This record gives sequence, structure tokens and C-alpha cells, in this order.
Amino acid sequence: MRVRVQENRHSRSDVEFIPDDAGDYRDQLLDIIQRMSSGYWPHIGVSVGWYPLIVNANEQLDALCHNYKITSLTKSNGTIQYFFRLPSYDDDELVKKCIAIVVKAQELARKTCEVCGEMGSPDKSGRFVFCETHTKKVVRRKRTSNDEVQRDN
Ligand SMILES: [Zn+2]
Repeated sequence: MRVRVQENRHSRSDVEFIPDDAGDYRDQLLDIIQRMSSGYWPHIGVSVGWYPLIVNANEQLDALCHNYKITSLTKSNGTIQYFFRLPSYDDDELVKKCIAIVVKAQELARKTCEVCGEMGSPDKSGRFVFCETHTKKVVRRKRTSNDEVQRDN
């Protein structure tokens, strides 16, 4: 059964799972996708502004443990959730170093606009991180939609 899942995964090219806005990070995001387990739908769950952060974390983790796997990579509560699996947890130092890489990426995400990658800060809800420009854009969009709601009423 496991073999079949793996065959399915290979019959669909991993390239199909690269986000359309990958740009220069195409190859590195493909590497991340290829670390995701067979049988799961591989998914880059963060926005383009954070691609450099996950690519950088992946490169550092790869340098420490070449065949590490990613179990889930998403955005949650205004930061990156980067869950990984190591072939072995015998080496405490290695595990600590790997966790530190992810924590660092999470800290950087809290200061990085998820839309453009410039310096940013969490919004009031704490669920989004935007630079000044993108905060304004979002606020304006919210106002517009409120106006629309009022007009509808
Ligand atoms: Zn921005």
C-alpha cells in the first residue's frame, strides 16, 4: 500500500506543487516540497514574503541533516509553523540546533511583511504581519468592504 502511495506521488510531478509566485525560489521550494512525506498533499503554506525565511531555514536544516523531512509547513498565528522530522533523535545537540533554526525563522517572520518581505510588524489581531505599505492597503480594503456592507443594508 505504501508503495502505491509513493507511485501516485511520483505520477504527479512535485513541480506541480510549486506556488505560482515562487519566482527565484522555485528550485528551493521544490526541495522543500520533496521533503514532505509521501501520501500527504505537499503544500507551501506561507505567503511569498516569507519564502526567503523558509528557504533559508531549509538550507540550514539541510546542512545539519541532509535527509531530514518536513511534516507540515503552514502559517499559524502570524508566524511560520515548520514541523520537521529527523531520521534519529539520538543526538540532542543536533535536535536543539534544528529547533533553534525554526525558532529563528519564526522570530524573523514576526518582523517580515508576509506580502513583500520588507520589514513589518504584526497587525492588531496578531495573525498577520505587514509592512507599512501593506498595512495601509489592507486597512483600505477593509474600509471598502465595510462601506459595501453598509450600502447593502
Ligand atoms: Zn509589505
